[in-house]
Amino acid sequence: MMSEHPLSLSTRMIDSGVADTPPNRITHELSELADGVAVVESFSHVIAIDSGDGLVLFDTSSAPTGKAVAASLRRWSDEPVNTIVFTHGHLDHVGGSRVFAAEAAERSRPRPRVIGQARIPARFERYQATSGYNQTINLRQFGGAAAAERRDKPFLPPGTLWPDVVYEDELREQIGELDVELHHCLGETDDHTWTWLPDHDMICAGDQFIWNFPNCGNPQKVQRYPVEWAESLRAMAALDAELFVPAHGLPITGRDRIRQCLEIVATTLETLVSQVIEAMNSGAALDDIVQSVSVPADTLALPYLRPLYDEPEFVIRNIWRLYGGWWDGNPARLKPPSDHAIGLELVALAGGTDPLIERALELSSTGEHRVACQLIELAVAAEPESHAVHEARSAIYGARRGAESSLMAKGIFLSAKADSDAVVTGEVPNTNMVLNLGD
Ligand SMILES: [Zn+2]
Repeated sequence: MMSEHPLSLSTRMIDSGVADTPPNRITHELSELADGVAVVESFSHVIAIDSGDGLVLFDTSSAPTGKAVAASLRRWSDEPVNTIVFTHGHLDHVGGSRVFAAEAAERSRPRPRVIGQARIPARFERYQATSGYNQTINLRQFGGAAAAERRDKPFLPPGTLWPDVVYEDELREQIGELDVELHHCLGETDDHTWTWLPDHDMICAGDQFIWNFPNCGNPQKVQRYPVEWAESLRAMAALDAELFVPAHGLPITGRDRIRQCLEIVATTLETLVSQVIEAMNSGAALDDIVQSVSVPADTLALPYLRPLYDEPEFVIRNIWRLYGGWWDGNPARLKPPSDHAIGLELVALAGGTDPLIERALELSSTGEHRVACQLIELAVAAEPESHAVHEARSAIYGARRGAESSLMAKGIFLSAKADSDAVVTGEVPNTNMVLNLGD
């Protein structure tokens, strides 16, 4: 059975303010959004537009999902792919490009031309230089096979197309009968493109809008840019588009509805930035800021701003990193002791690891997860081989994962649990977790 049309779903959820269905659907189903315009919902989506001289695609989905997306697309149109626009260089957007290259080769058609912002090649080079690190953090974030199995494989999938054409700030082109206006922006990445398509009164937004709290604080990844992110949303809002298609989540229709959503997300980011900067200017340390700045609960309840992927606390830390240094303002943490040294000291004070384990489990059971985790980490730092400590640590992170909303926090806590389980059982850590943004 076909899923509900994404435009009717987004209209209902935005207008009611109730997210009654997960908006990030990985169905690989194609939906027509207008005449000659379609989206295939995946991770990420592929948006296809018939230019009159072949298809123009925005993104190619990931390496594992590219084939399913292409198959769905081919049931809709058999036109050659003329051009692929990468909205940015994240793997879930570029990894499927090799599928479209292979398809063209099989059918003796010219390979699609790829356009992207000029910083994409440097991103790909960084992925090659830090491949093991990126494999490790993505496995922690999304789960999947054990880290040990994937670590040696290249993070950037072999055969991924690199841009043939790059641009700096803006690029206007006519492809077939289709006018495209590419705009560079900073936000989730430094290499983002959002595109205005005047013929369809339509915007392709990439990941500047994801039907989740903006991915602007990812704890394991490079700097994000909240101010420029908000600027890009305001620039898109000013166009009064009739159709707005992000690379994750649902497309949105209706000028007022689109403008309202973009402005609310922009205001949310701007408010967080100004609150953090104001606190920094007043001399606050990072801990004070994390304790005092928050996003109102009714904002976080909006169907397109729920903190199910990233979350405000991480964005606050990202803003601190953007405008300050890595030091958090606590003098003891400028040049701290090793984890092992402070763990040993605390265990000696407590009279062994048992009192620490007991107290950590007690705190965990009453929902004091933050302190529970700190105590158990000190115990594990003191006695890294102790099965008793790791059994407690596994239980504590299991409970913590269940108490968190964001996939990023859940992934890190699940991976900590898996590491402790591996010490206890002597087996390889297993962080198998279904990739599900609503989980
Ligand atoms: Zn993405």
